[in-house]
Amino acid sequence: MDEETLEMYKEAGAKAKKALEFGKGLIKPGASVLQIIQQVEQYIFDMEGLLAFPAQISLDSTAAHFCPTKDSDIILDKQIAKIDLGVHIDGFIADTALTVDLSKSNSELLKASQEALKAALEMAKPGIKVSNIGKQIQETIENHGFKPIKNLSGHTLDEYELHVPPSIPNFDNKDDSELEEGQAIAIEPFASTGAGLIEERGNPTVFAIEEVKPVRVNFVRAMLNNLIMRHGLPFAEHWLTTNFSEAQTNFALKQFDKLEILRKYPPLVDKADGLVSQAEHTVIVREDPLIITK
Ligand code: MN
Ligand code: MN
Repeated sequence: MDEETLEMYKEAGAKAKKALEFGKGLIKPGASVLQIIQQVEQYIFDMEGLLAFPAQISLDSTAAHFCPTKDSDIILDKQIAKIDLGVHIDGFIADTALTVDLSKSNSELLKASQEALKAALEMAKPGIKVSNIGKQIQETIENHGFKPIKNLSGHTLDEYELHVPPSIPNFDNKDDSELEEGQAIAIEPFASTGAGLIEERGNPTVFAIEEVKPVRVNFVRAMLNNLIMRHGLPFAEHWLTTNFSEAQTNFALKQFDKLEILRKYPPLVDKADGLVSQAEHTVIVREDPLIITK
């Protein structure tokens, strides 16, 4: 990785870290999930950061990919709230997440993912097999009496790319891929009191445009031209409904879907409705691993 790229990762990491801390402070009983998300996203814009994906708050048994719609009235109470956000600088992404326990009775569950992450980050050195990191994550979480979520994983980042190989598993998946010097990777252990497996459940509110095809309707084309500037990075339905009506938004999304250019990210929920905690940092692989979001 050249010096200029490293500087951009560092800047993205510092901004993501600040935004996550800001968001954490807003997660309180009585607060609106939508409002927190909007404040966090505004906070990132105010720092001149760009959103690598929509800020998300997933509650209780929902592990990831939950983003409220514009008319959402979800209010925090005693949930286990995971806040996950990504900031990019010229396409270089920092991805980070943490969990807040408003239930006040699941501190061990939070510790499990936090300690698994801590142990995994120390291993982010050139030459290590990704399955060894997964094994460490699995053992740490199991030692706390919980299950790692096996079908969610960390990932390698690249310019305007959130997920490139290799994945960083949350269990020993026997993948012999080795980390390489200068890779940017996101490590994100999830600990569950339930199945340790997630399934897609409910309507997606997070999407990405995978390729560009011509569209005929004017406002749909305007929306698409705007979304293209995201270079394939995800966007949220509530972003669209700030500039377009709900009917227009629904129509456009259907058009994109029909053209097969729309990628959907539905909420991911523990199959047995167990409670889920998550911790995530982005780290640059080197002998002395550099955690850019810490
Ligand atoms: Mn994340
Ligand atoms: Mn991630």
